Amino acid sequence: MERYSGISPKGDLLLIMRLCETLKNRTFLHINSTRSGGGVAEILHRMLPILEEIGVAARWEIIEGDKRFFDITKKIHNALHGRTEKITKDMWDYHFEINKRNAESINLNADAVLIHDPQPVPLIEFKKGGKWIWRCHIDVSNPQKDVYEYLRRYCERYEAAIFSVSKFAKAMPLSEFIIPPSIDPISEKNMELSNDEIKGTLNRFQIPADRPIILQVSRFDRFKDPIGVIKAYKDVRKYNDCILILAGSPATDDPEGEIVLNEVKEFAEGSPDIHILLLPPFSDRDINALQRASTIVLQKSLKEGFGLTVSEAMWKGKPVIGGAAGGIPLQIIHGVTGFLVHSVEGTAFRIRQILNNPEMAKRMGGTGREYVRNNFLITRQVRDYLSVWYSLENKGKNILEL
Ligand code: UDP
Repeated sequence: MERYSGISPKGDLLLIMRLCETLKNRTFLHINSTRSGGGVAEILHRMLPILEEIGVAARWEIIEGDKRFFDITKKIHNALHGRTEKITKDMWDYHFEINKRNAESINLNADAVLIHDPQPVPLIEFKKGGKWIWRCHIDVSNPQKDVYEYLRRYCERYEAAIFSVSKFAKAMPLSEFIIPPSIDPISEKNMELSNDEIKGTLNRFQIPADRPIILQVSRFDRFKDPIGVIKAYKDVRKYNDCILILAGSPATDDPEGEIVLNEVKEFAEGSPDIHILLLPPFSDRDINALQRASTIVLQKSLKEGFGLTVSEAMWKGKPVIGGAAGGIPLQIIHGVTGFLVHSVEGTAFRIRQILNNPEMAKRMGGTGREYVRNNFLITRQVRDYLSVWYSLENKGKNILEL
């Protein structure tokens, strides 16, 4: 905790220490479906060591699956985001079957079990005790109904559910909590870097440092709208000389990435100032440097869970232009820490507005950093997870006696 003192709000650190007096040495198991790629893995990588350091016996397990399983779970993911997908009875059975196999190999014994997203949700059928919580990171506010209803039968068997944004929550007969995700300010992804290192990274990727850089860091996923980003950039490029970087890496639980990457490459062909970077997993320092080298960071998502990349950029003092989707409006205060957009034209307009107003860009960046400090640092999320666990353990007790 000492490393966060002077960075994170003091109240969060104090509350964590108090909660640890009760939860020390208790076991806290997290299960998701990938160790790399995407925001969930990003947070777990940072959170597990913190939990261990404060004395919680934390463990992180991954469910294993084959291509068929991840094709099915990607369809489920898309359907929950509202896209039309057909999930047949066979597919649901396979989803369950793979979870059953995982339940045989993963030690499910723990005092608290946090199941992340729909891929491992059927594991609840194999519960051995402890408090089981479903942690939903995706926007289920307007899902394909039959898919949501099917999953709901599993979800309702949990003791509690956690959503990132209040509008994602569904009325279910269990305790529900709203806990937005967070970034770790002292990780390689977010720590301060020297100007030399930032320049060195640009050099290595053969990106000139002589013009403003517009950046989007994302998995190659249609919901992140990389094509829309290129369209907006091409529009801006008619008036402002600038560079576009689209940086992404594959996620093992996202089989569509390669197809989308190829579409993006094709669409960018013939534009030498568009740099498409396929980064290996765990390129945290490079992403940090690219974000710091940028003038504007975009996250032009059409659908989004939370959009960690927004807080990452705001922490680095960058104005962010984000699609008004999922958790992005929670982070971007329109006109104050960045701009929310609804279209390609709107994105191009806001890019130009920021490029032409460096003073405004600086002001937005500074406000954004403080906003992240107060709301979206990992210590706040550790505080919230421990609080939920504590509250479930003490459910029904008179608060004054605790
Ligand atoms: N990320 C990364 N490498 C990439 C693309 C993304 O490390 O090539 C990270 C990014 O910095 C962020 C996370 O993956 O920390 C993406 O989280 P977000 O919530 O923005 O989107 P998700 O992928 O979970 O939908």
